[in-house]
Amino acid sequence: MKIFNDFSLKRFNTFGLNYKCDAFIEVEFAEEIYSINKMFELDKARHLIIGEGSNILLTKDFEGIVIHPVFNNLKIKTVEKNSVLIEVEAGKNWNDLVQFAVNKNLWGIENLISIPGLVGAAPIQNIGAYGQEIKDVIETVQFFDFDDALFKVYEKEKCRFDYRSSIFKQELKNRVFITSIELNLSKEPKPILDYGNVKDELKKAEIINPTIEDMSNTIAKIRKSKLPSPEEIGNAGSFFKNPIIFSSKAEEIKKNYPDLPIFKTNNSYVKIPAAWLIEKIGYKGKTKGNVATYHKQPLVLINLGNATGEEILEFANEIIVKVKQVFDILLETEVNII
Ligand SMILES: Cc1cc2nc3c(=O)[nH]c(=O)nc-3n(C[C@H](O)[C@H](O)[C@H](O)COP(=O)(O)OP(=O)(O)OC[C@H]3O[C@@H](n4cnc5c(N)ncnc54)[C@H](O)[C@@H]3O)c2cc1C
Repeated sequence: MKIFNDFSLKRFNTFGLNYKCDAFIEVEFAEEIYSINKMFELDKARHLIIGEGSNILLTKDFEGIVIHPVFNNLKIKTVEKNSVLIEVEAGKNWNDLVQFAVNKNLWGIENLISIPGLVGAAPIQNIGAYGQEIKDVIETVQFFDFDDALFKVYEKEKCRFDYRSSIFKQELKNRVFITSIELNLSKEPKPILDYGNVKDELKKAEIINPTIEDMSNTIAKIRKSKLPSPEEIGNAGSFFKNPIIFSSKAEEIKKNYPDLPIFKTNNSYVKIPAAWLIEKIGYKGKTKGNVATYHKQPLVLINLGNATGEEILEFANEIIVKVKQVFDILLETEVNII
């Protein structure tokens, strides 16, 4: 392990905010977390696990210990006729894992290309994009439980995966350190084309039977044209979740706003785009001081250069209040506020 005191987290949050933590510990092997826990009494001490910080908003210096995994092995565990089971450690860059799968022609995560972050964070909010979610391929999650100082394995059923959520973002939030995950990837092509403008893009390129590379390249291209790169503009992707509301409520809104897009879920609820709500309250591309909503995608809040975490949070709260006033819908943040 490596320990750094009074450490700047600027490189470890994609908003690019220059807050500090008391100590920053790089964990080089999964097993080390056992002694780190003992040494720093992490069951009691204030601590925060950070991967690449692409789903957090720091609002002040973190008075506590930040833990960052750097162990990143990838192991092929079993090869079946139609599938391959791999185990990947928490410190591996998510996109590198997707590239690995694409190169090996293993299907199941190709639509999750270009999502920033490390593998260890991927199950936390059940990352998803373009019709795929990690829950569809995950078999187990291995983690260290700070409360009883034990390494544990949860089968996917126990992880309670849901839309941008899991047990790790709920009951077990801040109580576990995910060390690795097992994914079951398919050798058989399973292209998912029905989301966003994937079909249109493939058609434009005259691709009829897309290969796994066609899928990942197309989605990477679409994402690049729509989302700001954190290297150029500080952001944490979608700041809010898409609200899930009663279908009767959606019908009510539709009376005044016939263009409301509605996505059916499997019960009496529907999902509606938070971006649409934000646009309707007049906040698409809106700037306030050093913060703005991205002009191409209002769900993304951006740091115009010198924003503080508090300013970003204030702006987010302003959006929440306005959406509530106009639509009586409470937006929930997808980003973890620290
Ligand atoms: C431009 C952009 C686009 C994005 N697009 C998408 C998208 O399409 N779909 C999507 O789902 N997300 C998206 N995101 C959000 C983000 O990339 C994912 O949530 C990602 O999984 C976060 O990884 P991270 O390593 O940066 O996690 P961090 O931001 O460092 O951490 C996120 C949370 O997980 C916890 N955590 C991190 N690692 C561990 C661990 N090993 N054990 C226990 N807890 C841990 C942290 O404490 C924190 O609460 C996007 C973000 C950006 C900036």
